[in-house]
Amino acid sequence: MLKRTEGIVLKTIPFGEADLIVTYLTYDFGLIKAFAKSPRKTKSRFGSSLEPLTYSAISFWGKEDANLPRLTQSDIILSFKLIRERLDCFLKASEIIELTVNLLPEHEANKKIFTLLLDILHTVENDCNALLTVIMYKIKFLDLAGYAPRLEGCARCGKSGFSFYVSHGAILCENCATGTDSHVKLSQGSIRLYESLRKWDNSLAGRIKPSGNLFAELSGMINDHIRYTLSKPLKSGAFY
Ligand SMILES: [Zn+2]
Repeated sequence: MLKRTEGIVLKTIPFGEADLIVTYLTYDFGLIKAFAKSPRKTKSRFGSSLEPLTYSAISFWGKEDANLPRLTQSDIILSFKLIRERLDCFLKASEIIELTVNLLPEHEANKKIFTLLLDILHTVENDCNALLTVIMYKIKFLDLAGYAPRLEGCARCGKSGFSFYVSHGAILCENCATGTDSHVKLSQGSIRLYESLRKWDNSLAGRIKPSGNLFAELSGMINDHIRYTLSKPLKSGAFY
């Protein structure tokens, strides 16, 4: 069965001498892997369309339950070439991509996450130095994927509290916490910043400049939460 959709190349793995296994986030089918025959043999438009981050209109062929359908066509819509040409921009995009690949299940469409990823790649390409782009993606992505931390008061009784317990993915008050779990203290400012980043348009990522402390506190908490959720740290995050 031939299927058509739009996809963003998240990663590629060489297979044999000239073939590739391409991981896409697609609009209609979510995360999928596809087999690309011989793109590495010659410098072709088909080959360029398989560069990481490239957004293309794709067709692939395979049985309904095929784990590795064959890519039959791929036409570039946007290459995001500028991101690949600058190492610092590419590392930012890599952290975004790594989180997406590791946390999303395969074959489950999530159009909001697809749209978010596409929009955030535009933001990285247009303003690579924007401080808040990556954390904004992390917060919105976790929310849409169903892994958002719970920060609106104690998750058990609703009382106000500012201690975030990583093993619960939530704030707990003194009465409800068991006392043995490790936690980080959050300020009201960083909880407010979290809420704003969750709601704001991505284009604002370069215009808002929170204090260094606030940013460090919030990104530390989000990274701890991601590390716990994934049961491992993101490799690309180690570059910051
Ligand atoms: Zn409580």
